[in-house]
Amino acid sequence: MLYGALEAGGTKMVCALGDETGKILEQVSIPTISPEETMPKIIEYFQGKGIKALGIACFGPIDPEPASPTYGRILNTPKIPWRNYDIVGAMKEALQVPIGFDTDVNGSLLGEVTWGSAKGLTDAVYITIGTGVGGGVLSGGKLVHGMLHPELGHMKLVPVPGDDYKGRCPSHGNCLEGMAAGPAIEERWGMKAKDLKDKDEVWELEASYIAQAIMNLIMILSPQRIILGGGVMHQEQLFPLIRQKVLQEVNAYIITKELVDIDNYIIPAGLNDDQGIMGCIKLAMDAEA
Ligand code: ADP
Ligand code: ZN
Repeated sequence: MLYGALEAGGTKMVCALGDETGKILEQVSIPTISPEETMPKIIEYFQGKGIKALGIACFGPIDPEPASPTYGRILNTPKIPWRNYDIVGAMKEALQVPIGFDTDVNGSLLGEVTWGSAKGLTDAVYITIGTGVGGGVLSGGKLVHGMLHPELGHMKLVPVPGDDYKGRCPSHGNCLEGMAAGPAIEERWGMKAKDLKDKDEVWELEASYIAQAIMNLIMILSPQRIILGGGVMHQEQLFPLIRQKVLQEVNAYIITKELVDIDNYIIPAGLNDDQGIMGCIKLAMDAEA
């Protein structure tokens, strides 16, 4: 069976064909400019390929609730040309196939849960730390949407003593994204994040904020595994620092087999950066079912 997968990101739109085993058969990347410029290229890619369904995992905020009047739209995004754009409606009209639609981060989590490092789990969190911070949540076997979808990058954090950086989130200042996304690292230290590799204090502080956020997620959601992806997490030295600080934060308040085995509890994304597009394949499969 052939499925279409569209990973709609703020800088590029990855279009792919895949099968029910999650195998990606081919893929192309189209720059995200404006609906007028970008969408015809996406539609042209999928047309005539004989896909049974399409899965779209999209930058947000989006409306993923099928019963809502604004279902399928990109909502109040800072990317102005895409604001209120009905991406599901446009694809549906052009392709006439069932469409699955979710956030980019729920898509990545779904990829990991179906074929990757969270395979078979019912409760897991995927956090991407890149240009922004986003997170997908699987709870009781279901991707969480609630009234819209979680925005765990915007949880407030307590400043680390001695850190006077105010945070760069225009809405909240010192939320997780404001304190720990790539642009925050670069503004705080005045250098490209990837050029700061040898500066231990950068990653100590970064790990402190990420660990604080993970502590909150552990206490609220009780996930069985936490997956960290995104450009910033290419700094692999962050993983041991984060694990150690999470244990300090939890402070033995709960002791579980997962926390005891922390190296397998807080882990990197496991599908060679294909988790997003593979999640789209699963979204398509679920839409068809
Ligand atoms: P996006 O979030 O736009 O999808 P990425 O996840 O690649 O893309 O995130 C880009 C951000 O990640 C940049 O702001 C940069 O600061 C940071 N980044 C990218 N590569 C690295 C790296 N090797 N080390 C540290 N930070 C990085
Ligand atoms: Zn914020």
